[in-house]
Amino acid sequence: MKVRLTARKDEIQAITDVLEDDTYESAEKLARAVVTTTMRLLLDRDWYVVASRNGGNNLLYGPVPSENEAFKAINSGELGLGGEVGVFPVRSVSNRERAVEELDADPNPACAACNHPKVTHEHPEVNGCVVKTCKCKKYTT
Ligand SMILES: [Zn+2]
Ligand SMILES: [Zn+2]
Repeated sequence: MKVRLTARKDEIQAITDVLEDDTYESAEKLARAVVTTTMRLLLDRDWYVVASRNGGNNLLYGPVPSENEAFKAINSGELGLGGEVGVFPVRSVSNRERAVEELDADPNPACAACNHPKVTHEHPEVNGCVVKTCKCKKYTT
């Protein structure tokens, strides 16, 4: 399958940064950094896979960099697939992790000074925290 791969500007920069970093003690360590950086860059991309169902065998082929490339591979017969064939998106793992981190951000933050919830500092007639035993005078982040 002749998948057309195009390096993006930020990806080229990331590898260039590794290659220009002269702190690697050996060619092997530099090569390791190039490979792991490349793999991390791949995880930052969305991909597509070609799914094939043929006589009870369900197989996925990929990843393929674009939906267009995936359909080209199917239609050109390069994959030699029969039966039912489909194209599915594979979303970036690291993009998803970043999105989940944002979703996981604490919706009920606590005061850094007294550790009581932020809302206990928002009573209009109380200056500071409303918890009776608390002497905190101001919500602190
Ligand atoms: Zn407080
Ligand atoms: Zn408090």
